[in-house]
Amino acid sequence: SQTQVPVIVIGTGLAGYNLVKEFRKQDAETPVLMITADDGCNYSKPMLSTGFTKGKSASELAMADAGKMAEQLNVTIRTNTRVTSIDPETHTIFIGEESIAYDKLVLAWGAEPVAVRIEGDAGEHIFAINDLQDYANFRAELDDKKRVLVMGAGLIGCEYANDLSNGGYEVDVVAPCNQIIPNLLPEPAASAVQHGLEGLGVKFHLGPLVRRVTQTEQGLIADLSNGEQVETDIIISAIGLRPRLDLAVKAGLQVNQGICVDRSLQTSDADIYALGDCAEVDGKVLLYVMPLMASARALAKTLAGQPTDVSYGAMPIMIKTPVVPVVVSPPATEGLWDIERSGVNVKALCRDDAGALLGYALTGTCVADKLALNKELPAILK
Ligand code: FAD
Repeated sequence: SQTQVPVIVIGTGLAGYNLVKEFRKQDAETPVLMITADDGCNYSKPMLSTGFTKGKSASELAMADAGKMAEQLNVTIRTNTRVTSIDPETHTIFIGEESIAYDKLVLAWGAEPVAVRIEGDAGEHIFAINDLQDYANFRAELDDKKRVLVMGAGLIGCEYANDLSNGGYEVDVVAPCNQIIPNLLPEPAASAVQHGLEGLGVKFHLGPLVRRVTQTEQGLIADLSNGEQVETDIIISAIGLRPRLDLAVKAGLQVNQGICVDRSLQTSDADIYALGDCAEVDGKVLLYVMPLMASARALAKTLAGQPTDVSYGAMPIMIKTPVVPVVVSPPATEGLWDIERSGVNVKALCRDDAGALLGYALTGTCVADKLALNKELPAILK
């Protein structure tokens, strides 16, 4: 006969663990099964891009292993286990041939790195880091190397560039955009951060893509689409993350950019919920910690029998480029930018016609203005 568990949570990232932590504050007893494709270590993913700056190895970033977490949360955790399909009709998940029934199912299975096809024979030296184990593998490979090429100049690519420079590595960044962090920063703020990173020795190649990587006696050679060649030893792919949708689509759940959920974090199936990087909450896909914490608190109450909608206040994003600190709250709608710049210190404010603050980007010493400005920011989901 089939096993039956009241609550199943797929994923033990910050979304899964925070949800269960919050749920246990409401309900100490209801059996919960957590399933994760990785080893279930509890770690703070944002710390992956500050390993050198904070002087932490991969194992030092692990706060507790799955065994400790299971004990602490009074749950069962199955590690290195991949859920392969979901049948909402019969309330069943499948792990290969094995099936487990649920009353309520929570999808907290995160986002996956956008895949790239790079020609050449050096695929094993290209690392897309999306969990602590990936990071440990990367650090092991990095050990005897000197040069790193980062593909992608978004938030994560730039954080790694700063961190690896702090670790003493020579860093090249290659990205097919004309400014860094294009999705979040207005140009003057981006150029301030770029200037700071260049001061650390980071070399930017903005415009081209990495086409081909080949191994040589001395390391790797990356051929860029503009004909340029970059010599390096190891490559990080930080070209973007996408909510994992495959299993949700196959299960017939409504998806858009992420798995569609309403304010109660409910998917198009009444007994399946989603939060964290895989979820599109009332139209918003936000791959950050603050939204998933708010979602975890609300969903915990709902699962405990007290239906609760999530709301998001303002959620400024700190970009961990300590050479030129950045905090940004991207405007949700178009407005007019007013930008003051002095060296690497930029204060960029975006206001609507009536003068109300819609968003901002602050760099360098201007980050000190954030507390005052945060009070003026609109809520993301009221
Ligand atoms: P994940 O942590 O990806 O967890 C997904 C879980 O699902 C894992 O346990 C995985 O094994 C499991 N899983 C996936 N598929 C299956 C399956 N089929 N079966 C079973 N299990 C499965 N955000 C900020 O707010 N501030 C920052 O400064 C910041 N810095 C960042 C720096 C880096 C380098 C990165 C990569 C991200 C950063 N973020 C930051 C984003 C933030 O870390 C994420 O939003 C957050 O960690 C997402 O958590 P999650 O639990 O939704 O997903």
